[in-house]
This record gives sequence, structure tokens and C-alpha cells, in this order.
Amino acid sequence: MALFKSTLNITKFMSSRGIASLSALSDTHQMLQKTCRDFAEGELKPIAAKIDKEHLYPEEQIKKMGELGLMGITVPEELGGPGLDYLAYSIAMEEISRGCASAGVIMSAHNSLYLGPIQQWGTQEQKEKWVAPFSTGEKIGCFALSEPGNGSDAGAASTTAKTDGDNFVLNGAKSWITNGYESQGGVLFATTDKNLKHKGISAIIFPKPVDGLELGKKEDKLGIRGSSTCVLAFDNCKVPKENLLGEYGLGFKIAMMALDGGRIGIASQALGIAQASLEVAADYATKRLTFGKPIIKHQTIQNKLADMALQLESARLLTWRAAWLKDSHKPYTKEAAMAKLAASEAATFLSHQCIQILGGMGYVTDMPAERHYRDARITEIYEGTSEIQRLVIAGHLIKEMGL
Ligand SMILES: Cc1cc2nc3c(=O)[nH]c(=O)nc-3n(C[C@H](O)[C@H](O)[C@H](O)COP(=O)(O)OP(=O)(O)OC[C@H]3O[C@@H](n4cnc5c(N)ncnc54)[C@H](O)[C@@H]3O)c2cc1C
Repeated sequence: MALFKSTLNITKFMSSRGIASLSALSDTHQMLQKTCRDFAEGELKPIAAKIDKEHLYPEEQIKKMGELGLMGITVPEELGGPGLDYLAYSIAMEEISRGCASAGVIMSAHNSLYLGPIQQWGTQEQKEKWVAPFSTGEKIGCFALSEPGNGSDAGAASTTAKTDGDNFVLNGAKSWITNGYESQGGVLFATTDKNLKHKGISAIIFPKPVDGLELGKKEDKLGIRGSSTCVLAFDNCKVPKENLLGEYGLGFKIAMMALDGGRIGIASQALGIAQASLEVAADYATKRLTFGKPIIKHQTIQNKLADMALQLESARLLTWRAAWLKDSHKPYTKEAAMAKLAASEAATFLSHQCIQILGGMGYVTDMPAERHYRDARITEIYEGTSEIQRLVIAGHLIKEMGL
């Protein structure tokens, strides 16, 4: 633990001097990578199958990740975080997800979707109240945008926030909320002026638990089963007006900007799942004998491993590029969409190929291949489906090429 803390400090020192580059990771980013990898190997890999099977939230491990600085990784020191850059976040997310994709999504929703927008848009008072106690992982945050009637079309939010004296009164339902059960706070997107459509959506921070907020059943998911996902039902739920994040009507913009950063997190989660799949497949291929030799000696298996490595490395470069652009305060919406699209499709491809290389052993829970396959699938759906990422990329192309 102590080693990790000092690694974080060195990384912060180096990245503040612009030392991380795309051509090669700095020594300190590599040290961070190794430290997260050791943590995932020692603390996450051994429990990943159990929490998947039994739908268990990895409370103890998330606490330790908080102690390591991972549950507020870009939060500045004065608010309790290590103040690292987004490339560090991407690297850490990949390594954590390589050990356990459920821990990855808990970390991702908390860091990029909850802490991210409050860090960017919050007042000093809001940051002290809603960032500082959450940056150590003692408290967990969530992000409530999707509704039963609209996911991809997030601008059609129908949850309302009406003003009543010093309060907002919230009514409506938000669906699929990651960390819905464990969180002590969240960022909600609700309509404060229906006539203005998406320009009438505002972002409001809400505490949990709070009167008028009920949790729906825990969704029984295909993968990432160690994270909770549920409906949040608001029924005349009052929160103070001082919890407005940014200005009235800025909610949709705040949500889209949070999702740009979030997509780098999910791309990194997908890289971790893909990397784990490659390792399982390569290891098995050296041990399994058919026709008198290890299957890795068959050229067809080598071709599969080569294609897997190619997709993984390409997606990793896109993801690190998007993180680097964000760290450099350059536009990165298109690049984040490209990274998320490429990495999520790579995770699906690699986990599929991993099962194929393992044959029958890929299909049973004795080996982690089938879990990686199930975990990979969600990365093509949340924080914008692959279809939506293509729309985002095409929209940018049309503008850039004057089509
Ligand atoms: C496990 C899990 C965790 C989640 N966590 C959160 C969370 O923490 N917070 C949150 O707010 N949301 C969360 N979500 C919601 C998630 O972001 C949405 O499920 C996702 O955006 C897709 O929305 P939808 O399910 O309503 O699908 P729909 O929008 O109904 O889409 C259905 C299909 O139509 C396609 N489609 C839609 N519009 C278009 C179009 N214009 N062109 C082409 N194809 C289109 C989609 O790509 C998809 O294939 C989570 C979802 C899951 C499953």
C-alpha cells in the first residue's frame, strides 16, 4: 500500500511536468501500472469468480482501492485525492478490470460519472461536500441519466425538478443506475423547463438515502454481476436548490461532457477484459496438446492470437490518445467515441476467441473465459451503444470534411 501511495506521488510529480507521452509510458506511469496489476492479481483475481457467481459487491476490495487513491484518482490533493491525470486513470482502470470487471465499473461510474462533473462544474462548497468525502472511496457516487423510456435519447428526460421554496421537488424514474445500491450520493439529470426540451434539463446533486427516493430491485445481469444496477424512483423527493450543478439548463451539456470522459473509462475497462482474455488464451494454448503438440504450435491458433493482439493494441493506442487529448485540454469527443467503440468491440472479439481457443473448457465456469465473455458484452452498451459511438464519430467527420 505504502509503495502505491509513493508511486502515485511520483506519477503526479512527473505528469505535472508533462512527462507522460503517447510514444511510451513514462517510468512512473509504468510503475503505477505495475502496482495496480499487482493489486488486481493479489486482491481481485482471486475473488472475481465468487462475486460474479454470488452477485456480491466487493466492498472490502473497493475500500482498499480507496486507500490506494483509485476512488478519486484525478481529484486534487486539497480535496483528498492523489490528483493524477486521465492517462493514469485509464491505466489503472485497465489493470483493475483485468482482475475484476465489476470492480472496474464501480470505479469507473464513481470516478468519471459522479466525481468528474462535480469536479468540473461544482462550486467550492459543493466540492467540499460532494467530492472530498467521496474521493477516498469511503462514500460512493452514482450517475442518474437513463430512464425507462429513454437511454440513447438522453435529451428526452422526463424526470422533473420543480422548484418549491428553497428546494427542488423531484419526480420520475431513472433506470440502470450503476452503484444504485451502495452510493451515498449521485448526479441526477431532470427537466426544470419542459418547453426547452434538452436545453431545459438541469443537473442536480442528490443525497442517498433521502425521503422520497426508492430503489428498485437489483437487476440480474449477464455480466459485471458484482456491481449493483437498479431503478431510482423519485416521488416528491426534496433536495435543496443549492444542489444545482452548474446553471439551469446546462444538464444535458454536463451529461455529455461527463460521458466523453466516461467513455475513456469504459474503453479502459474493455481493454482490461480483452487483456485478461488474451492471457488466458495464450496460457492455455501452451499447455493443451492436440495431435501430439501444444495447440499454440498450430498456425490457426497463432493467427487467432495475432488477431487478438492486434485488436487489443490498436484499441489501447486509441484509448491512450483520447486520455492524452483530455489531459492536454484538447477536444476529444470523437477520439473518446473511437476508443470506446474499438475497445468494446475488441473485448467482445478477444473474449469470443478466447473461448474458441479453450474449446470445451472455455464454456464452463472452471475457467474465467466465459466470465470475460459475459463481462465484455456490456461495454458495447453502456455510456452510449456502439451505434451511438458511430453516430458521434460520423457527426464529427461530416463537420470536419465539410460533407
Ligand atoms: C449494466 C448497465 C449499467 C448501466 N449504468 C448506467 C448508469 O450508471 N447511469 C445511467 O444513466 N445509465 C446507465 N445504463 C444505461 C445505458 O447507458 C443504456 O442502457 C444505453 O445508453 C442504451 O440505452 P437503452 O438501453 O435505452 O437502449 P435504446 O436507446 O432503447 O436502444 C436500443 C437499440 O437501438 C439502437 N439505437 C438507438 N438509437 C439509435 C439511433 N439513433 N441510431 C441507430 N441505432 C440506435 C441502440 O444502439 C440499441 O441497439 C446502464 C445500463 C446497463 C445495462
